Amino acid sequence: MIAIVHHPDYVAPAPARSTYQWNKNGLIRDLLDPHEIDWHVPDPTPLAWLEAVHDPDYVAEVLAARVPREKERRTGFPITPQVARRARVVPGGTYLAARLALQHGFAANSAGGSHHALAATGAGYCVFNDLAIAAVQLAAEGIRTMIVDCDVHQGDGTAALTAGRGDMTTYSIHAEKNFPVRKARSTLDVPLADGTGDVAYLDTLRATLTPLLDAVRPDLILYQAGVDPFADDRLGRLALTQDGLDQRERLIAGLAIEHGLPLASTVGGGYGTDALEVAQRHVRSVLTLGRAFTSDRAGNNRLLVR
Ligand SMILES: [Zn+2]
Repeated sequence: MIAIVHHPDYVAPAPARSTYQWNKNGLIRDLLDPHEIDWHVPDPTPLAWLEAVHDPDYVAEVLAARVPREKERRTGFPITPQVARRARVVPGGTYLAARLALQHGFAANSAGGSHHALAATGAGYCVFNDLAIAAVQLAAEGIRTMIVDCDVHQGDGTAALTAGRGDMTTYSIHAEKNFPVRKARSTLDVPLADGTGDVAYLDTLRATLTPLLDAVRPDLILYQAGVDPFADDRLGRLALTQDGLDQRERLIAGLAIEHGLPLASTVGGGYGTDALEVAQRHVRSVLTLGRAFTSDRAGNNRLLVR
């Protein structure tokens, strides 16, 4: 059984003037359902958790669905009441996935990874930064999180919102020339050239993340498992194959297991004309991660990473 967090409000109807794939999370749920899934529903995120990371005025603007046009433009879609309800439940979902991972080894949120959201505004299809919100709340409970961000875009919002904190660490491996133009500073940034393929990507990921995990020894990995490093992704610039993405998930799970760390994953970016194909890629990521932990618990088939 793989523990997955999902809330009906994750599936918001598309607002007008939006290019974001709003049905992605519903498709992810539908595609996961036939598998051995232990479903969990999060509570709405407490207001205090949102305000611990975001400017209270911005939180109020979102929850009342009265975000100024300029911020909506930066976010990439209008904040309707449905979008606001979705934004309210996703961070609690990421926190719940972290709590379930601490219990079971692995859990996934079927949304989240909103790594571009900043203190006072959304950005790049992200409204509230669920990664930072969950990490800050976990830190208040004594749990030190490392946020590992493998989305093709830099985790700039997460880095900015957690900067200077000794109780959390950020790692971002991304295409250097991609959005955002102005990068923030993560604990460790690994910028990659356009067209980086499977072998160089996986070698670089392993060579940079392993020493950071050894040095920091966090209590938990919060994983932004964006699938947009895929070669055909509409917004990506890297050249990973599906096999390369599968190997990435086995590598991440393997490093977590070797370090005795629980891992909670979030969905992150993935863009294409065919929403079903993108959702399948996310589901494959979740199942690959989950199965690595399941087979490890069985004691046989200890994960071997190339
Ligand atoms: Zn992305």
